[in-house]
Parts: sequence; C-alpha cells; structure tokens
Amino acid sequence: MEDVTMMGMEVFNCLACYLPLRPPIYQCSVGHFICCSCHDKLPAEERKCSTCSAAISQRCYGMERVVDSILLPCKHGCKKKIAYHHKAEHERNQCRNRPYVCPVSGCRFSGTNAQLLDHFTARHKWKTKRFVYSVAFDLQVQPGYHLLRGGDGRVFLLNMAPPESLGHAVSLVSVKPIGRGHVIRCSVGFSRFSGHYQVTWLELGSLSRSDGLLAEYFFVVPKVSNGDVVLTITIDDGKLYEEDHDDDNYKDWEDEEVTYD
Ligand SMILES: [Zn+2]
Ligand SMILES: [Zn+2]
Ligand SMILES: [Zn+2]
Ligand SMILES: [Zn+2]
Repeated sequence: MEDVTMMGMEVFNCLACYLPLRPPIYQCSVGHFICCSCHDKLPAEERKCSTCSAAISQRCYGMERVVDSILLPCKHGCKKKIAYHHKAEHERNQCRNRPYVCPVSGCRFSGTNAQLLDHFTARHKWKTKRFVYSVAFDLQVQPGYHLLRGGDGRVFLLNMAPPESLGHAVSLVSVKPIGRGHVIRCSVGFSRFSGHYQVTWLELGSLSRSDGLLAEYFFVVPKVSNGDVVLTITIDDGKLYEEDHDDDNYKDWEDEEVTYD
C-alpha cells in the first residue's frame, strides 16, 4: 500500500534541491516547480529555472493545493495520514509510534520501548536493582548506566557521567513514558565527607524518544578517585497513592499519552 502511494512522489520534489515541495511553491513559465527556499535564495533578477533557464514567473497555488491534499500513511503504522512534505518530520520527531533509540553513543539500536529495555539488559548487561516506592535505598554507583525497577515493573535509567571539572553529572529518567498528570518524584542524597549530606529533589521525566538522550542532568556528585559513590534514593510514584494498578506487562505503546485510569 505504502509502496504504491509512494511511487512517483519525486514529481512533488523541488527541481533545485530535491526536497518535497511545500507551500509556497513557485514555477517557471514552462511549469517546473521550485520550493520557496530555493526561490528566495536567488536575487530577483537571477530567478531562472534550474531545469530550463526560463524565468521563474509566479507562485503556483494549484500545486500548493495538490501537495497539501495528497496524504500518505505513516511508516510506523500510526493512524495519521500525512502530507508528503511533512512525512519525514512526522516520522522522525512527532509520531507516537516512532522507535526508541539506545542512549549509548555508537549503539545504533532502535525498537519499541519493551525491546529497548530488553536490549539494555541483554546487550549492555546493565544490572537491575529492584526498589520499593517511597522507601529510601542506597545505590553504589560508578560512571555508567544503572537500571532501577519499581514494584510496578516500571524501570528507571540512571546515568552517571564520567568526571568533569565539577564532578559527575547524574541523570535519572523513566524508560517508559510517564502519562500526562502522572507525577513521579525522586530524592537523591549523598555525602561528600563525614557530617556532610546533600539532597536533591526532582520530578522525573522519561527517556527522549527521537535522539535517545536522557533528560537534562539534574545533579552533580563530587569526583570519586577511588571506590563508588553511594547515592541514597527515594522514588515516589504519585499514582500509587491514588489506586492500585497492575502495570507490569510491557506492551508496545500505541499512545504515548496513555493514562492508567
Ligand atoms: Zn528547493
Ligand atoms: Zn523550467
Ligand atoms: Zn506516525
Ligand atoms: Zn545500545
């Protein structure tokens, strides 16, 4: 189906830059089309068609209506029909079904949320620590990735970066999307020396889908020359106070904004 509808779509590409045409669209007197950015790049007196050298004379409103009205299916299988000129952007950055990519630089894995989680343990051999919500636990960390699994099956990814001038930047995100209105908070404490203790509170976000980047780093622990940093972590899931829910099976997520109600 997609192959059929994608056939011959090059006629809707700009003849100068070969990108899909989107309004506004210009044409030469012979009827070759060029896109707005190619049109605007040329000074008015040099606006000649790259194909036939005829003057580029006018906007083509008919072609603009055509490119806006031809809708194509999304390659990730979401229900949306997308204009050809918007398809690449939708599939790369907007589609709710677009795959997750592994955050490890150089690793090119992409897949569903559940496949990504399997990949973390099977391929990267990251250890998983189980924890109970709202109960503080200690985690000995060295630079790298660590998985934390809550009682409801939700998995969090903690990354401690290699040391920089200020220390180790640490980030913590949920691997699975967190539904709208669902708040998961976390406190992380550590001690630099006897008598010192520092705690950071944070509302957790989830793993970014398109670039695999973790949410921004949220705290820095001092450099450790030898041994591990011991972090004392408490994760509170706002939903758990409201109701019990069984969310232990990792399905493909049809809808990122699914709530559990
Ligand atoms: Zn162009
Ligand atoms: Zn032309
Ligand atoms: Zn889509
Ligand atoms: Zn990977």
